[in-house]
Amino acid sequence: YLHIQDISKTFGDKKVLDHIDLQVKKDEFLTLLGPSGCGKTTLLRILGGFERADSGKILFEGKDISKQAPYQRPMNTVFQQYALFPHLNVYHNIAFGLKLKKLPGKIIKEKVLKILELVNLVGYENRTIQSLSGGQQQRVSIARALVNEPKVLLLDEPLAALDLNLRKKMQLELKTMQQQVGITFIYVTHDQEEALTMSDQIVVLNEGRIQQVGSPVEIYNEPKNSFVAKFVGQSN
Ligand code: ATP
Repeated sequence: YLHIQDISKTFGDKKVLDHIDLQVKKDEFLTLLGPSGCGKTTLLRILGGFERADSGKILFEGKDISKQAPYQRPMNTVFQQYALFPHLNVYHNIAFGLKLKKLPGKIIKEKVLKILELVNLVGYENRTIQSLSGGQQQRVSIARALVNEPKVLLLDEPLAALDLNLRKKMQLELKTMQQQVGITFIYVTHDQEEALTMSDQIVVLNEGRIQQVGSPVEIYNEPKNSFVAKFVGQSN
């Protein structure tokens, strides 16, 4: 479905991604898991089109999308910092991309209301961004990404800014959402527990290299090397 083919990236003299090769299946929840600085955000930015790889390709359904601009790609990104427009209300934040596409107002309204239901924010259309809690703001940014109906959603530690209880709740919500919509998630986290609970497939990264790819059960029960054993075995 999505083939990340032999991607490498160097910043200065630091090799941040070293020949990353990865197959992502349609509608799976794939997590990039690794410690701070292992290159997971860089890989996500390359997938989203915000950063250019030094070498390698990204193939989507067999087509090379490496040179496409972010908005041309079949993916959308949800950032850790919600990156919402502070001067627009919830409705207009979500509708923003649809308006750029010049869709008729009626269709935009239908789509926004449908997505508000999905993220549990019905009735919040007219609220300002500042009046929302962190969890609600993150729901708006997820809604804004999903309303464009991407094939793949890229999420960069979307729950990191939330407190523990809310994080647990949102983990469940996100997983349910992903299954309900039927969409591929590529999810970046350094939190092994989060990765083990949410993922279909986990990719463990360290120092720009893939250490292991497997289901949560495989990663947990049969770590391939001492790094994976140590990193996945520890608790936060
Ligand atoms: P974190 O969870 O802390 O964000 P990460 O695994 O996502 O870590 P990256 O953000 O991908 O890691 O960064 C990997 C390495 O590349 C780090 O050492 C970082 O300092 C470096 N790096 C990232 N972006 C740049 C840049 N634009 N210029 C120079 N170095 C960079």
